[in-house]
Amino acid sequence: MLPVVALVGRPNVGKSTLFNRLTNTRDALVADYPGLTRDRKYGQATFESRQFIVVDTGGITGDEEGIDKHMSQQSLLAVEEADVVMFMVDARAGLLPADQGIADYLRRLNKQVLLVANKVDGIDGDSESADFYSLGIGTIYQIAAAHGRGVSQLMTTALSPL
Ligand code: GDP
Ligand code: MG
Repeated sequence: MLPVVALVGRPNVGKSTLFNRLTNTRDALVADYPGLTRDRKYGQATFESRQFIVVDTGGITGDEEGIDKHMSQQSLLAVEEADVVMFMVDARAGLLPADQGIADYLRRLNKQVLLVANKVDGIDGDSESADFYSLGIGTIYQIAAAHGRGVSQLMTTALSPL
């Protein structure tokens, strides 16, 4: 079984963009419309000759009810299946309440969670990402999924314990 990397986070943070970059496809729906990708989507990816499965999710809107209103059912399932969870946030949008709800859930899991601040192209990533330390996840991996910046370093970290 290949390692499974799940991409979770609010809609519009860039999950499908990273999915497409990792899998070299345009299959996942990328759009300016938050939440358009409704279902989990699986792709096979290779990084430095290591194969892994990447799981795209439709995003967590914060409107859901239930065990944790910030975690949609399909994102919960994707997290359950994953060996590594990439928790994506938007460095341009800044810290939002839904990010906090997702972090509260993920911190309770006994699972490798990497906090990924996307869209740092053309902004001061360090200062725009600083608020995300309050999520209590630890290291912030700054990337620009649309351009590939930071993605190699992120993947090296994600795959090294697997
Ligand atoms: P998802 O809802 O989390 O899957 O987000 P998408 O991948 O659909 O991206 C949402 C929007 O963010 C789209 O307009 C993307 O083009 C844009 N986006 C994604 N990654 C980046 C990035 O690295 N930099 C910038 N500036 N925009 C990005
Ligand atoms: Mg998407």
